[in-house]
Amino acid sequence: MGTPYRVCEHCGAHLDANEKCDCRNPKQEEAAAEAQPMKLVAVCREIDKDTGRIAVYKINAEITGAVVQQLQIRARLNPELRYFTLTSGRWERFGDVITSILKRQTVTRADVDRIGGIVEL
Ligand SMILES: [Zn+2]
Repeated sequence: MGTPYRVCEHCGAHLDANEKCDCRNPKQEEAAAEAQPMKLVAVCREIDKDTGRIAVYKINAEITGAVVQQLQIRARLNPELRYFTLTSGRWERFGDVITSILKRQTVTRADVDRIGGIVEL
């Protein structure tokens, strides 16, 4: 009688004769994380022409090269609009802080640089 199972040489797991051990496969979660490209979000800072109130909100669109170009043109044509981009992870974690900074009356390029991880378009 032969051995009813074989032992994986890497982890020692008991396997059926034809079974391939999965200990050498990359974990599925890791593979999924690698497959997901870095996602960007764009944030608009808009000054209301009538009231002067400043609103900061996320743009509801997938941020592609074409969208970035459109936003840059829109910002040039409309001085009351400014657009910023950052990774979605950063926006989720620091969105409140970034929003409060962008809502200040004056936001210079240096202010934006000081926040870090955010770029004005
Ligand atoms: Zn194994």
